[in-house]
Amino acid sequence: MDRLGRMNEALLEKIHGKIPGAQTRALVPNLARTESRNVTYLSADFPVFWRSAKGANVTDVDGNRYIDLTAAFGVANVGHSNPEVAAAIAAQAELLMHAMGDVHPTEIKNRLLEKLLSIVPSGLGKVFLASTGAEAVEAALKTAMLATGKSAFAAFHGAYHGLSLGTLEVSGIPKFREPFKHVLSDRTLLLDFGMDPDVLRAALSGRPDLAAVIVEPVQGRAGCIVPPPGWLRALRSICDEMRLLLILDEIYTGFGRTGTMFACEYELVLPDIICIGKAMANGFPISAMLAKPFVMDAWPLSGGEALHTSTSLGNPMGCAAALATIAQIERSDLPARATQLGLHLQTRLAAAAAHPCVRAIRGRGLMWGIQFRDAAIAERIVKLALTKGVIVLQAGLTGNVISITPPLIIAQPQLDRAIDILDGLIGSESCTA
Ligand code: PLP
Repeated sequence: MDRLGRMNEALLEKIHGKIPGAQTRALVPNLARTESRNVTYLSADFPVFWRSAKGANVTDVDGNRYIDLTAAFGVANVGHSNPEVAAAIAAQAELLMHAMGDVHPTEIKNRLLEKLLSIVPSGLGKVFLASTGAEAVEAALKTAMLATGKSAFAAFHGAYHGLSLGTLEVSGIPKFREPFKHVLSDRTLLLDFGMDPDVLRAALSGRPDLAAVIVEPVQGRAGCIVPPPGWLRALRSICDEMRLLLILDEIYTGFGRTGTMFACEYELVLPDIICIGKAMANGFPISAMLAKPFVMDAWPLSGGEALHTSTSLGNPMGCAAALATIAQIERSDLPARATQLGLHLQTRLAAAAAHPCVRAIRGRGLMWGIQFRDAAIAERIVKLALTKGVIVLQAGLTGNVISITPPLIIAQPQLDRAIDILDGLIGSESCTA
């Protein structure tokens, strides 16, 4: 077991009895009665109520222990309930829990802004803090509009940038747009992710109303799709040629997930605007949008009332949590660990690729997708994996992908054990080619 594995206890799964257990089943009716019925999918075999989590282990209310291959939506990069992050939040909570983001600033916000600017590619010189990923993207879209005087965007099929009304404008997942399409502008140019750069250039050239192109360097929700080598770089050049801003949504890929601190470093691409969130504070909701100074300075100087802000902007506990998270990512060189473990994972998954149910295996760092023949197989494996102590998520436009995005501190024996379990489940699927 390596040092990080030891620090995080790094336990294997321990399941006793039927999943979901009796305590979970007892809690379901209350949730079904009280929560909007749209939020949590409830069935006889899914989900389980979580009670606690540590490192890459999650424990449910029945005391079953799981190996988490999701990092809870790619958030817990330094491990669930990370002690240093928890201590930073607790200390800050005692000192100052909430301040006045855009009126009376805090010293810890200054420190976080400096830190963020030191870890993103140089050239991104100004920061705007927010709480969720969608808010960071909203801020990016508004910024691009102000900086260019234009209001339309190019985005990609399969893109997920959040579910607020503004971010739905650039969503590439039809089911999220559909119920609200009557209020969406219809101005977004949706293109194929990873498409031939010449075709992409031609499509963009017919749209003089475009302010920017927004893209995930690796599509997450669409099923961990990595574009062809050099594609992001080509996109950068095309944006330069056409005087379009390039917005990179690194909310999923950021903070070491794909093997570099930010995925754009892989191809040495400098965006005009970058959106980050999720793993930024390892679970405390804080996000940010960073831009080149001349782009950010399209916003007018505050005359006492910000044109775009929110109650929790720069929340001091979020700043403390982010500083503690980033310090650990750097100290333990978690991007390098993601690369190293990712190569191991790739080798392990290669065996699964041979199974007739599996259509593709793709990913980078610790962001991988197993694409199955159909969504029913993926759903069955997600549910069966839970009964065997492994938490994975369904992804992909039709739900036919299982994504693997564990905490970056996961110990190799934990990862191996979880993959053994998935392998066994895939192997027992009776598919013909
Ligand atoms: N952008 C990307 C690439 C995401 O993966 C997500 C969430 O999964 C978002 C934006 C939205 O973030 P949030 O759910 O925090 O609003």
